[in-house]
Amino acid sequence: MASAQRTPFIGGNWKMNTNASEGSALIQALGCIGQHDQVDVAVFPPMPYLSMIAQHAKDAGIAVGAQNFWHEGNGAFTGEVSIEMLKDIGATTALIGHSERRHVIGESDDLINAKTKAAIAGGVQAVLCVGETLDQREAGKTDAVNETQIRAGLAGVSKADLGSVVIAYEPVWAIGTGKTATPEDAQNAHVNIRELIANMYDQQAADAIRIIYGGSMKPDNAAELISMADIDGGLIGGASLKADDFAAIIEAGTASLV
Ligand code: PEP
Repeated sequence: MASAQRTPFIGGNWKMNTNASEGSALIQALGCIGQHDQVDVAVFPPMPYLSMIAQHAKDAGIAVGAQNFWHEGNGAFTGEVSIEMLKDIGATTALIGHSERRHVIGESDDLINAKTKAAIAGGVQAVLCVGETLDQREAGKTDAVNETQIRAGLAGVSKADLGSVVIAYEPVWAIGTGKTATPEDAQNAHVNIRELIANMYDQQAADAIRIIYGGSMKPDNAAELISMADIDGGLIGGASLKADDFAAIIEAGTASLV
């Protein structure tokens, strides 16, 4: 059973999918799924639709977040979007260091750290994504990779500010592949991340921080993953584009508390 002291977090990363009418239909369908008081639910739509989705999401008690942003204040950064702008349109959370941004776009640990600190300073929740590639997993480096990415991502973040951080453990080989970590393997990685937070901060911080799993989470595997003691929810890509599937995963989050 997931820990009762941590509210499960279920996030839907829409990636570069949907158009305006599909996004609107999706958020409205999610608005009809009923009560999810015991679970924090967020969606991360593509930037052009964020404002529109935020308006619909408010009534449904769903938070809206950005998949990316720039860490500097407003100014001469052509093509970028600031935390100030995100807040202005109703975003309260943001993904940072998603594997597609690390490995496709080439974001460095330093940039990810700057973004984490900028989100926290601006009052936006930072969902810091970490995880190993297949090669790293096969070389037995899962925990070492997570440690490197977390130490770098959280450099300069105080214990007090850790309340604004959710860690998403997302093994790169499981994202969008249909392959999922076994609940035991995922739990093991989460336990080691929690121990790392205890070493970096203290046990209280480790007990409080939410560590969620991402990587081909679907209605048929969500319950067994989220019911593990140290898995506090999920970051969901593909399955978050189908309202029924995402609703079933939210339900698994609620059930994990029983
Ligand atoms: C993600 O994009 O963070 C993700 C976990 O994707 P998927 O659920 O499709 O593997």
